Amino acid sequence: MPSSRLLSATVALAAAAALIACGQAPGGSVATTAPDAASQRLTTLTSLDMRVARVAQRLSEANVELCPAVRLAAGWALHSASQYSNELRPLVQSRFGLDGDLPGVLSAPPGSAAEEAGIREGDLIIAVNGTALDPGPARARPAFEGLAANIAVVDRGLAGGATRLDIRRNGQPLSMTVQPHRACGYEVQLNPSDELNARADGRRLFISTALAGFTRSDDELALILGHELAHHVLRHRTWSDVGGAGREANEAAAVSGAGDKETQADRVGLFLAARAGYDTAIAPAFWRRFGAANWRVRYPQLRHASAEARARALEQVQVEIDAKRAAGAPLLP
Ligand SMILES: [Zn+2]
Repeated sequence: MPSSRLLSATVALAAAAALIACGQAPGGSVATTAPDAASQRLTTLTSLDMRVARVAQRLSEANVELCPAVRLAAGWALHSASQYSNELRPLVQSRFGLDGDLPGVLSAPPGSAAEEAGIREGDLIIAVNGTALDPGPARARPAFEGLAANIAVVDRGLAGGATRLDIRRNGQPLSMTVQPHRACGYEVQLNPSDELNARADGRRLFISTALAGFTRSDDELALILGHELAHHVLRHRTWSDVGGAGREANEAAAVSGAGDKETQADRVGLFLAARAGYDTAIAPAFWRRFGAANWRVRYPQLRHASAEARARALEQVQVEIDAKRAAGAPLLP
């Protein structure tokens, strides 16, 4: 999980990629309906971005003591006008007040350092500790490098602790100071995809738009992201999950003992979600519903047991969590 600020950028980039594809729909009749379709797609994607940012920020901060990599984070999600297609840029500029490569706040989740500092969704970051960020050139094509460079400046500021930000809100200048929080040091990326898919690669967590959209609540989303974060906590490197077969750098080594690793990640992931205050008693029902929707999850595979077996195992983990809570013991997996 990222400091949510990195999370933000990659999440927004993924959204932009999907939107670019959306904007390329050919055909005369499409021309009249495309703006509405693009607007709706933008709404759906940014809504998923915000949910993922919110759950990732909470999991990341609640479990910082268990994470091997830690960083100081504002907990926000950022995006920029320059990363969107030419067709969509006017839409995101009017909806989010974005300007060139300058980072705009897509999400400032409740309880995040950004929200505590008074930062709101729609704020545009102009300067960091007195250093002006670069709005960049007029761009003919979607580009991420300008935003990435600006985020690097913001990150260097946050890494040093209290960070003064000059922002623009509804065209008015404001100044505020963020006191960043310690958080697990992983990026979370929302990938536009129709596959029900999530994975971790040792540095980042990935979840598809289809799977994020399949979850019906933050509690369910926390199960998926908690499982992926558990691979990091357990130091399972270059790991892939549902739909990710063949992506490992070292396939044979990864498959060896894979079932054990998935069982461990299910168990530790449930603890991580519980520690962040999510309702984990819903896990068995979620896995049965997930299994009914996806045969790869339903039946035993090389890397994991059947959805039913995982549901039953999670019922036992929940008993363990309930017992620790009743005894007033720390929720450590
Ligand atoms: Zn896994």
